Amino acid sequence: MNYRRRGDTEWRDGLPLSRVFDDVYFSRSSGIAESRYVFLQQNHLRERWQSLAGDGFTIGETGFGTGLNFLCAWQLWRECAPPQARLHFVSTELYPLSHADLARALALWPELAPYAQALLAQYCRLAPGWRRFSFDDGRVTLTLLIGDARDTLPQLRAQVDAWFLDGFAPAKNPQLWQEDMLKVIARLSAPGCTLATFTSAGAVRRGLLAAGFNVKRFPGFGSKREMLRGHFATSRPARVVREKRAAVIGGGLSGTATAYSLAQRGWEVTLFEHHATLAAEASGNPQGILYPRLSGHDIPLSRIALDGYLHTLDLLQRLLPKGQDWDDCGLLQLGHDARERKRCQEVDARGLPPDIVRAVDAMEASTLAGLQLSDGGLWFPAAGWVHPPALCRALAAHPGITVRTSTAALRLLRTESGWQVWGDDCLVEASVVVVCSANDSGRFEQSAHLPLQAVRGQVTLLPATGDSAQLRTVLCSEGYVSPARAGLHCIGATFAPDVRSLQLDTADHRQNLAMLRALAPALYRALDADALEVAQLQGRAALRCAAPDYLPLAGQLLDASGMSGFAPGSRPDASGLPWLEGLYVNVGHGSKGLLSAPLCGEIIAATLAHEPLPVDAGLLKALDPNRFLLRGAGLKSVIGAAIG
Ligand code: SAM
Repeated sequence: MNYRRRGDTEWRDGLPLSRVFDDVYFSRSSGIAESRYVFLQQNHLRERWQSLAGDGFTIGETGFGTGLNFLCAWQLWRECAPPQARLHFVSTELYPLSHADLARALALWPELAPYAQALLAQYCRLAPGWRRFSFDDGRVTLTLLIGDARDTLPQLRAQVDAWFLDGFAPAKNPQLWQEDMLKVIARLSAPGCTLATFTSAGAVRRGLLAAGFNVKRFPGFGSKREMLRGHFATSRPARVVREKRAAVIGGGLSGTATAYSLAQRGWEVTLFEHHATLAAEASGNPQGILYPRLSGHDIPLSRIALDGYLHTLDLLQRLLPKGQDWDDCGLLQLGHDARERKRCQEVDARGLPPDIVRAVDAMEASTLAGLQLSDGGLWFPAAGWVHPPALCRALAAHPGITVRTSTAALRLLRTESGWQVWGDDCLVEASVVVVCSANDSGRFEQSAHLPLQAVRGQVTLLPATGDSAQLRTVLCSEGYVSPARAGLHCIGATFAPDVRSLQLDTADHRQNLAMLRALAPALYRALDADALEVAQLQGRAALRCAAPDYLPLAGQLLDASGMSGFAPGSRPDASGLPWLEGLYVNVGHGSKGLLSAPLCGEIIAATLAHEPLPVDAGLLKALDPNRFLLRGAGLKSVIGAAIG
């Protein structure tokens, strides 16, 4: 889908109407009262939330539209849900309203103004896929599945407690009410799930009955005679309830972000780092670049880049003051040779929203960058650079996290109720352990089989000059250069698989300088780079950790020693596999840890909390840490055992 061609909204008599579906977004008489009557009341949300037993509640909706239902639900949640509980609102939307139309529609309901403002402040960068927004310090999460619900909902991993079926009238939009769609809705329903919809169409009622819902007609709102409400009776196994104590091993981005995501959900986390400080290895570079390196196609590498970019951006905006340790100064990906130009064109042809990326020519690129550039390319207006150690420290500062530096976790022992982490002595007992120790993960017997490879990378730091200070944005292609931080520009990085030396190498400095000369000759001159004494240059070398397919490994581990006895070529039932219950990894982020490590931490924490997952099933499969083990045993990939 090309996102620069959206379905447009028309305004008639002060109310929004969809031109594509020729239908109104809400009732003419009183949209807000209908929303409350049909969706909140008929799902008994007030009563259910006042006596909520668990930690969370998930609403699923077909058709986000103006977000009116979401705001009404959020308002009620604030009013009556227990303070520690979290509301997840997942909604599908094929044609997201423009920011201006959304603002105009929500202005109709002054009593929702504070909620509308909070939504509008985050309502941007709506690329196809799973887009997440967090409100009330994580107490309320909105996940928008941007795309056709027929494609997105089957890819959702969630257990929904109440459905709002609201995708325009079945006569005007039959696709959203087809039997297949209703079956997907049933599959996503948790035990005790309810549903409500404004329509009482016979075909919808029959479809819901066939999908396993008990549905009945009830008096409709206002002039509408009837509506439908119902519930889903299932006999699914109960969710695993664990004591919320976790040990996270590794104090880089992956470990601190995983610990943060767990702590945000009320877990008590102990974070172990064998160095004396956090971010001492690959996460310790002075400047990391935050931008999604996209491809022309929606492949997993490109998807994790985009989803991860948006997630990390959101974290930064919430956790770190801008300027000193990160800056969304924008980034230019320059097409400086034929291959890169083609790549830029292919990405542009995807038609992603311009607040994520758009094409620029050399003249506009030069204006944006503040210095002369001979190539155009792609402009990422919200991208920039980050001082990763500052992000790690900010994440680890969560009050739910106890940081134990200079403490090496050496062994993991499984117990009846969970795990023990051992150094010289038992360091901690926890129901869940997440190994986030990159190349050191091989030290644990349970994760030693993971095919991780060390890849050395060296950055070079160049003293800023009066002229180089003109650079306003990050420039990149194969390598990158950033605006100066603390008087130094960071350029890099080299890529040397299986080299383990951490000594600075002058050949690597030269390689970085050659990259800079090709990328931005004017900046190269501004830095007087030819005159620099290469042997005296500052820099930093570190080992990244990568899997053979350059995708991260994130999720619960299988026991590699228990994989015999499965028929090759089969797709075994997930529940029959030898899971190491409660043992997770978040590793293999290569040079893209800023993008992928926090999102993978969020996936793990959401899995453990039985929440809707922040990415689609296709991406979960691509990130499955057992993919190599299963492939090695001749088995097809299995996801889902640890989910929901
Ligand atoms: N719940 C909304 C509110 O609170 O404002 C009103 C929803 S409006 C009646 C229906 C929405 O469903 C529209 O925004 C429309 O674009 C969306 N929609 C229609 N067909 C869709 C599809 N196949 N997939 C996803 N969204 C769809």
